[in-house]
Amino acid sequence: MMTGQRRQFILGLAMAAVASAASALPSAAPIAARHSDRTVVLTDANVVAIDGGAPIRNAVVVITGGRIVAVGPAGSTAIPADADTISMGGKWLIPGLMNMHVHFGLKLPGAEGAALANETDPQMALRMASNARRSLLSGVTTVRLIGEEHGVDFAVRRAIEKGEIIGPRIKTAGEIIVPTGGHGFLEADGPYALAHAVRAQIKQGADWIKIAISGGIADTHGSIAAAPMTDAELSTLIEVAHRNGIKVSAHNGSPIAAKQSLAMGIDCFEHGYHLTDENLKEMKAKGVWLVPTIVVSQAGAREFYKKIGSPDWYLDRVDSTGKDHWAMLQKAIRLGVNIALGTDQFPFEPNGGTTATVAEAELYVQAGMTPLQALQAATTQTARMLGIDKEVGRIQPGQYADIVAVDSDPTADISALRTISFVMKSGAVVRNDAR
Ligand SMILES: [Zn+2]
Repeated sequence: MMTGQRRQFILGLAMAAVASAASALPSAAPIAARHSDRTVVLTDANVVAIDGGAPIRNAVVVITGGRIVAVGPAGSTAIPADADTISMGGKWLIPGLMNMHVHFGLKLPGAEGAALANETDPQMALRMASNARRSLLSGVTTVRLIGEEHGVDFAVRRAIEKGEIIGPRIKTAGEIIVPTGGHGFLEADGPYALAHAVRAQIKQGADWIKIAISGGIADTHGSIAAAPMTDAELSTLIEVAHRNGIKVSAHNGSPIAAKQSLAMGIDCFEHGYHLTDENLKEMKAKGVWLVPTIVVSQAGAREFYKKIGSPDWYLDRVDSTGKDHWAMLQKAIRLGVNIALGTDQFPFEPNGGTTATVAEAELYVQAGMTPLQALQAATTQTARMLGIDKEVGRIQPGQYADIVAVDSDPTADISALRTISFVMKSGAVVRNDAR
């Protein structure tokens, strides 16, 4: 095992390498900060009505210092004389997409995961930086990392914030905290050890706490249905997080573990494969969030599992879980449970001819959401879950200019998200296919 200090040193080297690669670009300015202090105006655009109602046709969006300062019809919105103007050619503008279940360092059972078995932390840091960049370019401007390793996520977040590499805004849960043998790597047993594990993640900079209160599809041991944590363990862990103003999300497929943790004030469930009507009703009553990651158990993920060389036992587990998962999602939507979009695959991962993020939104519509609700599950709802809805999630004055362009109105047909061709984060254009 590496000592913490040595790990920090090596990580530092890796990030320095990324930084010097960035400064070798023609512009010496940090790459993520381009344009951010200039005034940029998007013209000839349609702005989607993310809270419902009528869109703004032939709209202008004025951005200064990375934030939106004005949005309105071209005829009545003043354009500053010194602004850089970008014509959007009649495209539709939506808030940058947000994906709430991401692992930049994801490794799954199979040939691809096996090839990463001896991956060092510096190698992982660079792979995560690449995944961050590809996520942003796919139209995802905010992610919640929900289980990474060795604190590398905090280094990646810092490098993005400093403009050394490009990537989405990051909220992260650090490492997944589990009882010994659980679905994660940071094992702790008993209330005091679990309290320490929670505090240690928060000390490093965790925005959320992620725990696993049941087994997972990828596990070769334990059962998805089991609820292995004691009441004393679970209640202490949640109390310690809440006393620090931090929310707790649980990887969970078990109705028993759901009932136990709902009684103790859990804030969010990931996956929710086998949640019952009773669980979902309690979630609705308490405002508890569900991050479905429905793409992982449905047909579109087949190409992904084939690509990574997943073993047969894993595919069998996916199939047997998929039916319950789908029925649960339909019920959750019908009951009006708070849903925030998350994929548990890389946001840009190919899935059914598009990305996992877009496929996830399309599946929400197939399961009963309106296209507007599905788009909100990836923008306004995710922002509200993270407590940053004053900063991101809408194209309106005061918000960061995190903006994506598509060919048509996704609130009429969610598949319009397949046509993402422009991505802006904090007023900096990171992708523009028209150029
Ligand atoms: Zn996951």
